[in-house]
Amino acid sequence: MLRTHTCGELRLTNANTTATLTGWVQTIRDKGGVLWIDLRDRYGITQLLLEDGQTPPELFAIARSLGREFVLKATGTVIERKSKNPNIPTGDIELKVSALDVLNPAKLPPFLIEDETDGGDDLRMKYRYLDLRRNPVRRSLELRHRMAQQTRVYMDGQDFIEVETPVLIKSTPEGARDFVVPSRMNPGEFYALPQSPQTFKQLLMVSGFDRYYQIVKCFRDEDLRADRQPEFTQIDCEMSFVEQEDILNMFEGLIRHLFKAVKGIDMAEVPRMTYADAMRLYGSDKPDTRFDMQFVELKGTFDTVDMTSGKGFGVFDSAEMVIGINAPGCAHYTRKQMDELTDWIRRPQIGGKGLIYARVNEDGSIKSSVDKFYSEEDLKGWAAHFRQAGVPVKPGDLLLIMSGDAAKVRKQLSELRLEMGSRLGLRDPNVFSTLWVLDFPLLEYGEEDQRWFAMHHPFTSPKPEDLPLLDTDLGSVRANAYDLVINGTEVGGGSIRIFNRDLQARMFSILGFSDEEAKAQFGFLMDAFEFGAPPHGGIAFGFDRLCSLFGGADSIRDFIAFPKNNSGRDVMIDSPSVISDKQLDELKIKTVEK
Ligand code: ASP
Repeated sequence: MLRTHTCGELRLTNANTTATLTGWVQTIRDKGGVLWIDLRDRYGITQLLLEDGQTPPELFAIARSLGREFVLKATGTVIERKSKNPNIPTGDIELKVSALDVLNPAKLPPFLIEDETDGGDDLRMKYRYLDLRRNPVRRSLELRHRMAQQTRVYMDGQDFIEVETPVLIKSTPEGARDFVVPSRMNPGEFYALPQSPQTFKQLLMVSGFDRYYQIVKCFRDEDLRADRQPEFTQIDCEMSFVEQEDILNMFEGLIRHLFKAVKGIDMAEVPRMTYADAMRLYGSDKPDTRFDMQFVELKGTFDTVDMTSGKGFGVFDSAEMVIGINAPGCAHYTRKQMDELTDWIRRPQIGGKGLIYARVNEDGSIKSSVDKFYSEEDLKGWAAHFRQAGVPVKPGDLLLIMSGDAAKVRKQLSELRLEMGSRLGLRDPNVFSTLWVLDFPLLEYGEEDQRWFAMHHPFTSPKPEDLPLLDTDLGSVRANAYDLVINGTEVGGGSIRIFNRDLQARMFSILGFSDEEAKAQFGFLMDAFEFGAPPHGGIAFGFDRLCSLFGGADSIRDFIAFPKNNSGRDVMIDSPSVISDKQLDELKIKTVEK
């Protein structure tokens, strides 16, 4: 190596030895007679010292010609620093330079290569290789590396075999659009990139591999929502001869291993909740359980009680559901704050119509925004109903109540709950709350397309006890499907699979495939089921998201070395891009005007 040590390595114990370091110029401080250079590499920063009378004058000349990010090699003696820097591990020493080589000069970088940079997103992405020199981004990728390593440690320890599945395949239905690749050798025909290795991992079970996993790229051509990447990474897993309970235990083990090995956290057992309860208590199938603030129905579908109708308040009378949360200690919210909160829920992203509130005063009396219609007695009845539902209501609390169509109002109140959680400081990114959500519906009805869709994917098995409902009530068939939720984010999902040809064929038919279509697209899988397919099931974790959660970050962007922007572009290499007419000709694709 060109160096004897890294820039993060030297300590007082190395004093009076000679060392050679290589790295990038972070800063130069020139005091005339003394000049310091902070030299940086992946491992840290070491201070270089040039001193009048001690350092050869020509080295001063070199040092004064340096700019930020020049690549240097410096040799010298390690000495104890006069004024130490307790903030960095090498802060006790400096390198008294006796030789200095510029390995490569550098242009002035377009933004500061520092923890807090002045570079905007676009600029950072265009020069991502410079952005990656910054500590926070590098640390995020180091975390990702440890997560991948520890995943492999756990999976290998449980006898899982890592198998690579192909990338040029055909459609796997995970509910998104496929990215397609034209085939030159088969003009007019296209490969699809995998939305997941779903069918291949099931085939591996038929092959008898018994336990498979892969840390694998998946591709989904979705309309880009914030913080979605068209290509992303999954920890993809499948096991044979299992029931749901086995999968939950095995992968709870993975998550707990990762928390312990990567973050040193002893994670408690992962609690479980049914989909139905998650919707009832949080209005979401991925509730943030770092805080309670559960929903209470004053008039609803689960509860038969109706605490609101018949008092002349038309909004509640005509609503399918009236539902509330208790924001603890928020009774002091001023009129202005309430108006602002109402505006917040009325934003198009939330779509709420209005917000009713009831303040629980210190003396126990309750004042609401609908006092015209509801007596204090009524309001006290609401508070009592909250308490009966297990939600404590104390003086100083604020009940926030919304009404409307059940599905919509749950979603809106769920957003408000998260917002209140944030406002009350209950969503610390360094606190982790895990949850299994179980018993998802097998199917959901798409009003627009007027047909049933698989809620997870078409290979998911119905709960055996719900099989008869396939003939009578498709909407209430539950699936052997599960999601792992951490801090309100779905980090993993999977299911026990169908392994019987007839049931799989039936499923395709329910989903609107003709026999021919099902055969053309998934004949290979159904054929395989006739050659001794074992009962099997699995799960996949969103690896980028898992890493960002462990890193306490909102965005997955910095946990991916070279991410795409919100329009699906890589602005550094400028992709996607047009291809030559020659390539198009070879592919027998007609030129499109751009
Ligand atoms: N293939 C599924 C997905 O990508 C996961 C699974 O069912 O194992 O969501």
